[in-house]
Amino acid sequence: MSQPPTHLLPEPALWIGEERVVDSSGGRTDHVYAATGQPTTQVVLAGPAEIDRAVTLARESLPRWRDSSAEVRRDALLRLADLLLVHAESLAALQSLEIGLPIQLARRLPALAADHLRYYAGWCDKIGGEVLPTWPGRSLDYTLDEPFGVVAGIIPWNGSLMSMAQLLGPALAAGNAVVVKPSELAPFVGPRFAELAVQAGVPRGVVVVVPGGPSAGAALAGHPGVDKVHFTGSGATGRQVLAEAARNLTPVALELGGKSPHLIFDDADLRSAARYAMSGVVALSGQGCANGTRLLVHSAVRDQVLQTLTARLRRVRVGDPADETTVMGPVVSGQACDRIIGVIDRARTAGAQLLVGGGRCGGDLADGFFVEPTVFVDADRDTELVQEEIFGPVLAVSSFDTEDEAVELANATRYGLGAYLHTNDLRRAHRISRAVAAGSVWVNGAPGLMPSAPFGGVKQSGSARIGGLAGLREFLRPKNVWIPV
Ligand code: NAD
Repeated sequence: MSQPPTHLLPEPALWIGEERVVDSSGGRTDHVYAATGQPTTQVVLAGPAEIDRAVTLARESLPRWRDSSAEVRRDALLRLADLLLVHAESLAALQSLEIGLPIQLARRLPALAADHLRYYAGWCDKIGGEVLPTWPGRSLDYTLDEPFGVVAGIIPWNGSLMSMAQLLGPALAAGNAVVVKPSELAPFVGPRFAELAVQAGVPRGVVVVVPGGPSAGAALAGHPGVDKVHFTGSGATGRQVLAEAARNLTPVALELGGKSPHLIFDDADLRSAARYAMSGVVALSGQGCANGTRLLVHSAVRDQVLQTLTARLRRVRVGDPADETTVMGPVVSGQACDRIIGVIDRARTAGAQLLVGGGRCGGDLADGFFVEPTVFVDADRDTELVQEEIFGPVLAVSSFDTEDEAVELANATRYGLGAYLHTNDLRRAHRISRAVAAGSVWVNGAPGLMPSAPFGGVKQSGSARIGGLAGLREFLRPKNVWIPV
């Protein structure tokens, strides 16, 4: 196993504008490299006191950004996108080290993040408002699209480079200041992103990034100086965030988890469908909110699909994140590893049939947090395996005979983030796209995260949108002006 590039790690300190904090109310924790299980450095965590200072700084800095002209904001976002590309290699290495992400995947992220920033840079000079029809008297009624003010961004650990771009692109384009709280598991990329934002011309204090644990998140969501909370994470934490924000009646946008299905019909390109189904297990080691972690397959093609899928999964290169040929790395922590193995053990006990995987990886990988790509078939549809987001490399397979049955199964969880549809029948594709309860439907492939497309959930996957105009609207609110003529 290669040693991680620890020379890229920052010294243990929090930065709140120009204030350097080494003794914080949130204490310290060790960052552990997921591929070796070994600590890399200490991390200073924000607590309530640092969150308060971060929000105060963002409030003070807000007017310099909110009141700047559209082209100033546009150009700063474009420069920030350029800087992500200039520093692409070190950002990719830092992202890989942070959560054990395979470097071949991490290398694709800076360009994708830059693309999101460029897309929203393009909106800066198009934000305005509209003129409305009025009656019965003669009047002029128009709207002004205004930023909320200080936005609290609470982000998960599973891809902080993209989370930062997806949050800062629209929030800054709209003219907000942002306090971001990354997870204590992923504390490096966010602060680096904020440094680059300052280099790009975003005034210091407009983006304040303070990694911390649940107490920091709670202090931020419940802070009276926050005008909107944008939360990305699990539903369980989302409930807490709603309660914390309720103290000040602060509006909350929620981007939550998923249990997205792949629906494979008997007319599909089965090799391609099996390849995409495999990525539900392998991509980010199953730790992506939109991973397709349920496979619903027509019974006529079930055996063929499972044969292709298992053969491919047995060949997947699981291992050293720094090795360019590695496709799947570890899961994020020892705790996550134990939790996932617990789900696998309970699924076995509950009678699901294990097709492939089912344990921790041994040999050279035994010290890291590696879980084998795992597939179960025929689990009871009410079990944890089928109903809960596992956030690990585990796929649950069921079969169906009719289209109605497929849709019924697809919709039979409390989640509704994405759905992957594999069919060559165009009418069916349109029918099912309407019938599935999901924020996004991807037919015969998946484009990854496109900046122009709204991504988000229905049901307990949340209601906010990232991307596109809908994503920008999360950070704007219309003010109405009426004048008699
Ligand atoms: P999590 O819910 O445990 O934590 C998310 C963030 O909330 C972290 O920064 C955490 O420190 C913070 N937090 C914890 N307790 C808090 C509290 N009481 N108040 C405020 N903040 C608090 O989620 P995670 O394990 O970091 O990430 C995985 C989850 O995120 C999965 O459910 C995944 O599906 C979801 N996710 C969703 C999307 C999306 O766009 N829909 C994207 C990525 C991840």
